[in-house]
Amino acid sequence: MTAALQIEQLTVSYGGIQAVRGISLEVARGEIVTLIGANGAGKSSTLRGITRLVRAGGMVRVFGEDVSAYETDRVAGLGVALVPEGRGVFTGLTVRENLELGAYLKRNGLAAKLDRVVKQFPRLGERLTQDAGTLSGGEQQMLAIGRALMAEPRIILLDEPSLGLSPKLVQEIFAAIRAIASQGMTILLVEQNTRLALETAQRAYVLATGEIALSGTSTELKNDERIRAAYLGGSVE
Ligand code: ATP
Repeated sequence: MTAALQIEQLTVSYGGIQAVRGISLEVARGEIVTLIGANGAGKSSTLRGITRLVRAGGMVRVFGEDVSAYETDRVAGLGVALVPEGRGVFTGLTVRENLELGAYLKRNGLAAKLDRVVKQFPRLGERLTQDAGTLSGGEQQMLAIGRALMAEPRIILLDEPSLGLSPKLVQEIFAAIRAIASQGMTILLVEQNTRLALETAQRAYVLATGEIALSGTSTELKNDERIRAAYLGGSVE
């Protein structure tokens, strides 16, 4: 079966800086794959390249369809939803309005979509009329994921969902991510919390200065000396 997402020799540059230097990776249907690496390794740029939010070289295929020449909207139309770093919720709009914006490409069945998201994140349901800017960090992350779900995507790209959250909220967000995956969603997870990323994903790619330095199953990488030394504080339980 064709992969949900297939990237070949992806490059992203900003002026003279080459942030992504020809990476290739694949995410199978229904798989959670994580992209890990230090600050500035090029993780967010990879997600922006996939969704054509920045100009990118190389090839990106979504369910076998080459999207390299597409605009962002058209990639979204194929079922790719990005949950950006920093959440990108619209303050000044209510939680409900933010969620509804997620369904802007397909507005039919809005109530049923909203219902499903609220079932996934009951806290959002209790706050539908609240200004999104007044939500806590964890609630904003739920809203960002909920907004992506409103588009009924087939692939979700998650950029640093744990950023700035307390350990308890991180657990809550990741439980939701696992629940969404268990319903068959394909997920590419960018995450700085390497331990959590490897516990959540089936496979991982390690990005270092814009290149894939290492890849394998999460179990392989958890036991890899280089990963343990560089990203897991030298120990694995
Ligand atoms: P982090 O974990 O800190 O978010 P990252 O792995 O996601 O890092 P990117 O945000 O993709 O890394 O950045 C990769 C490189 O590209 C960095 O050196 C960064 O400074 C540079 N970069 C990112 N966005 C831009 C931009 N809009 N203009 C210029 N340089 C950029």
